[in-house]
Amino acid sequence: MSTKDPNAQRMEKIVSLCKRRGFIFQSSEIYGGLNGFWDYGPLGVELKRNLKDFWWRRNVRERDDMVGMDGSIIMNRAVWKASGHEATFSDPMVDCKSCKARHRDDQLPAKDGAKYCPNCGSRDLTEPRAFNLMFKSYAGPVESEDNMVYLRPETAQAIFVNFRNVCDTSRKKLPFGIAQVGKAFRNEINPRNYTFRSREFEQMEIEYFCRAEDGLALTDYWLEQRLKFYEDIGIPREKIHVVDIPDGDRAFYSKKTYDLEYEFPFGISELEGIAYRTDYDLSAHIAASGKPLDYFDQEKNEKFVPHVVEPSAGVDRTTLALICEAFAEETVTDEKGNAETRTVLRFHPRMAPIKVGIFPLLKNKPELVAKAEEVVALLRPHMMVQYDEAGAIGRRYRRQDEAGTPFCVTIDFDTVGENGPEKQGTVTLRHRDSMEQERIAIADLKAWLLERIS
Ligand code: ATP
Repeated sequence: MSTKDPNAQRMEKIVSLCKRRGFIFQSSEIYGGLNGFWDYGPLGVELKRNLKDFWWRRNVRERDDMVGMDGSIIMNRAVWKASGHEATFSDPMVDCKSCKARHRDDQLPAKDGAKYCPNCGSRDLTEPRAFNLMFKSYAGPVESEDNMVYLRPETAQAIFVNFRNVCDTSRKKLPFGIAQVGKAFRNEINPRNYTFRSREFEQMEIEYFCRAEDGLALTDYWLEQRLKFYEDIGIPREKIHVVDIPDGDRAFYSKKTYDLEYEFPFGISELEGIAYRTDYDLSAHIAASGKPLDYFDQEKNEKFVPHVVEPSAGVDRTTLALICEAFAEETVTDEKGNAETRTVLRFHPRMAPIKVGIFPLLKNKPELVAKAEEVVALLRPHMMVQYDEAGAIGRRYRRQDEAGTPFCVTIDFDTVGENGPEKQGTVTLRHRDSMEQERIAIADLKAWLLERIS
């Protein structure tokens, strides 16, 4: 990465903040890491959880036409044969004959029409060959071909093979959807761009089943829903590029596919795909398993294989987009009139890992500490709070700015009535983005905060 490029510089700062503040760590770091694998620290796990919970709330709990499920990561190998993954889920791989580096053919840079190795610049490359991205393992003690299994490369197939089970138990009528959030694994040839392309990641997928005649309109409907979702978590529409994938570039079974791409500092890249997959998946499993995965419309006395629209989003890519979108540096003046750089993560309060920082003005005043602990106990059952009594108040605000905490509450002498009854029972509430402060009664605090974070 060139340190002169402002986007590369911005990305470097984001990566460094993520490690310093406990959002994201390299997996197995003390042993040198493992390429393509990442761990989420105390702040990262909260951010990721808030994202997944809000997605679940929007797409499952708030809708009558959706149900959830949670399938196993390892499934019968027959699933991946039927879905086409065993035969075709591959990327074209080339080796550089000079430096032996391995690359994805479709990601190689080219000069004067000839591809070259981004590692050493050589043009002496092997012919591309298909590399299957599924991780293999064995179920049971014998490492035989019969016991071979794959770690799932997407969550969707668990939904398709359970279609009949869910229909029979939830009694939903078309159109309706099944949603799932879970881990997926792909042995990517070149994991890169931080967590953007990892070998282990999480997906949030919906399979929305419908009649064939409604498929195209529902694809547009879901595009709108998904754009609204990104807006509601703090990623504005103008930062999301909708790419209508042209004929010939889509999977052969798809009649319409939109890619939703975000302006990451390293380039505009895919966050989510919304694909109208027709009846391809259910039909493939019907053919391979011989089981009836069709739908019976009682009113019309009709049996048919439903079509499906699939909005498939990445948890890790969206988490990274949230961090990139929130990251800001600004010059502010401290109490002594000195200019300093304030690093702040401007998360939407709904996504912020910590919702409110709670501080006693001074840690050696028992009445302030006791009151602050009372406020912590009041709010803790309802939201993620952080108590902090260490250091000057300005430093405590800065720490919360870097963690993306939207609100801070300070318990001072007014709170405990030392300056008269007027302000007794009120606290200073400080806003992260404007840095403005106001006074609010402790009695109103919970409702005030819940309104903003839910
Ligand atoms: P790409 O073209 O970037 O490899 P894809 O089109 O193969 O992605 P899909 O199969 O459509 O991706 O998967 C749906 C979503 O899962 C993607 O939009 C992305 O958010 C997420 N995803 C896929 N592969 C990865 C990965 N290696 N690391 C992190 N997230 C991923």
